[in-house]
Amino acid sequence: DVRVRFCPSPTGTPHVGLIRTALFNWAYARHTGGKLVFRIEDTDAARDSEESYEQLIDALTWLRLDWDEGVVVGGPHAPYRQSQRGGIYGEVIERLRASGHIYESYSNAEEIDARNEANGRPKQLGYDNFDRDLTEEQRAAFRAEGREPALRLRVPDTELSFDDLVRGEITFPAGSFVDFVVVRPNGAPLYTFVNPLDDALMGITHVLRGEDLLSSTPRQIALYHALIDIGVTSFVPRFGHLPYVMGDGNKKLSKRDPESNLFHHRDRGFIPEGLVNYLALLGWSLTHDRDVFSIDEMIAAFDVVDVNPNPARFDLKKAESINGDHIRLLETHDFAERTIPYLVAAGVVAEPLSEGQRGILAQAAPLVQERIGLLGEAPGMLGFLFTDAAGLSFADDALASLPANAGEYLAASVNALELVPESEWAHEQLQSVLASALIEGLGLKPRVAYGPLRVAVSGRKVSPPLFESMEILGKAETLARIDKLSA
Ligand code: GLU
Repeated sequence: DVRVRFCPSPTGTPHVGLIRTALFNWAYARHTGGKLVFRIEDTDAARDSEESYEQLIDALTWLRLDWDEGVVVGGPHAPYRQSQRGGIYGEVIERLRASGHIYESYSNAEEIDARNEANGRPKQLGYDNFDRDLTEEQRAAFRAEGREPALRLRVPDTELSFDDLVRGEITFPAGSFVDFVVVRPNGAPLYTFVNPLDDALMGITHVLRGEDLLSSTPRQIALYHALIDIGVTSFVPRFGHLPYVMGDGNKKLSKRDPESNLFHHRDRGFIPEGLVNYLALLGWSLTHDRDVFSIDEMIAAFDVVDVNPNPARFDLKKAESINGDHIRLLETHDFAERTIPYLVAAGVVAEPLSEGQRGILAQAAPLVQERIGLLGEAPGMLGFLFTDAAGLSFADDALASLPANAGEYLAASVNALELVPESEWAHEQLQSVLASALIEGLGLKPRVAYGPLRVAVSGRKVSPPLFESMEILGKAETLARIDKLSA
């Protein structure tokens, strides 16, 4: 059975590329009926933070990417935070040491450089496997000097190939990687050791992760062979390296770029359905001619062998357009509910909303649902409905857009609107009386005729449909606003 994992280090804010990796693992687990393990690789106390850990949980929860085992939910391989697994590592280290797979290494950087220079070996190759064959006397002598050893894994001197699920056959020639440090002199085990060790202990069958980790794979496969030898596991998992996510200028989307932060997109009003859809397109597609799909369609179709190895470009415009399509697919009441946090954050309303405010939102939601790409656009579109004439302010660009004889159009509008009884104050009726007053009566084009009215009613140049907005505001309020602009 397929067992995949998402195993981030809790540093910084969740990067969209990292969450794309989580999504692909999740989709593969769901597609195959396998399990997703969520492990936290917090072995670097200087960089890891609890806040970042909480954000990773929040990110997956928000996107509705659930996991079968791991932090929060527990499971048979608990604990799932590496900072709590030291005892488990210590035991495996002893077995690897006893079986000769790892050995004590005392060489320091200067000694390695000096030897490479003396032997004409390129400096960038680094460590030269010198300590492999130290005798017990030599080791005792180093210890007597007060030196603490690192522990290194003895790797085979042969070439190493594996069949990457995304990239096909990859070969690392003999000598391209050397005996690497698994435990630092201070006793701290390193990522290249605990990551595959935990994968082995947790029965991971497929390692799907970013391309940046490709260079550590041959070392990790070498470690797998040692772990098989001592009976920790019986197989090497399959690897699939997912493409880089590129930002502007065809550079890797950097952590410093605000667009790399998943929550930046949530704050702007991406909905999970839209963002998941877009993240899926960072290296994968459902069909060549359809960009918008549901998570269930993704689950049904997703296979890691279809992932495109070429770098994927993060295209915000496209992401927003896909998000808008998903916004339009929401039930209207659901859409209305989802705008509330954004309306609150913008100060348009405060929780809890009053009956009246809920009524306005329910009436207005369908008008904006058709028009926005991000929930964060809702306050700007709807704000004018939650204030009164006194509280309404007219945007500068809206005022600047008024034609010279706006006053005349507004006066004609007032005359027409005053004759509409409250009981007939509905958008069809308003449209018809205003059309006869302004378009027939004054001979104006609709765009010109209704511009000043739109500014009066909404305070903005662009708003939800004008007549529907006037219907929601009601007669007295509409006339008060026209009055205010005319003054
Ligand atoms: N903790 C590693 C990282 O965040 C995980 C790498 C992997 O998926 O193997 O980069």
